[in-house]
Amino acid sequence: MLMNSLTASRHKITHRIARLYSKLIATPCLLCGTHTDQLSLCPSCAQSLPQLPHLCQRCALPITQGEYCGQCLINPPARHMTRCLYPYQSPIDHLIADLKYHEQLSVANLFANQFATQLQVHPHTMPDCLMPIPLHPIRLRHRGYNQSAEIAKVLSKRLDIPYDDRTLCRIKNTQPQTSLPYSERKKNIHSAFKCCRQSLPRHIALIDDVLTTGHTADMAAKTLMQNGVKKVELWTIARTIRHHSKYG
Ligand SMILES: [Zn+2]
Ligand SMILES: [Zn+2]
Repeated sequence: MLMNSLTASRHKITHRIARLYSKLIATPCLLCGTHTDQLSLCPSCAQSLPQLPHLCQRCALPITQGEYCGQCLINPPARHMTRCLYPYQSPIDHLIADLKYHEQLSVANLFANQFATQLQVHPHTMPDCLMPIPLHPIRLRHRGYNQSAEIAKVLSKRLDIPYDDRTLCRIKNTQPQTSLPYSERKKNIHSAFKCCRQSLPRHIALIDDVLTTGHTADMAAKTLMQNGVKKVELWTIARTIRHHSKYG
């Protein structure tokens, strides 16, 4: 009887400490500022995030049905598969800007955890290794961190897949793709990467924050495949959805 009451008291104390701890570490929701014990977003904001339409599995172009778009059936891009989490629109674009330019690294945690959950809901053959799309050393020095690497590191822990940011190197300090018209982006990124190590795994997932034309990821995928990689996937947080012209 005494032991039962002692155990109950101990449980009560543990519960109170846990509640106090959760209050102390409660963080404001990244979007509305409400205190939340969820990971960076309150349940209401998490539920109201925009959803992607049905996408081609290879290039992530919106399609009405099937697995692949017409373009991928005729002339597929270098990457074998693309997985994205959200359309690149408000408030996702603001969250990505916070991560990229304002050192809001909790956004990387948030997105990586959501990505890992999505992969667990729709399982497929996992890659041997996760590689962030690298920044050129000059830009990395200037920014202080690579936002895609921050996402990849969390994903690596969540999924228990090795993380590698040393093999794929950026050797050309290209202009930011977003500063160029779509027509010039392919040329800008040409020969931008190099493999800095030999003996690569067979199956790699490249991690990036935003997918627009896909030229950067395809250049990286080509470089890896020229060095013996058999399958390259691209995992991105957001996909730019354009409605008036063709892209891929
Ligand atoms: Zn909120
Ligand atoms: Zn496609």
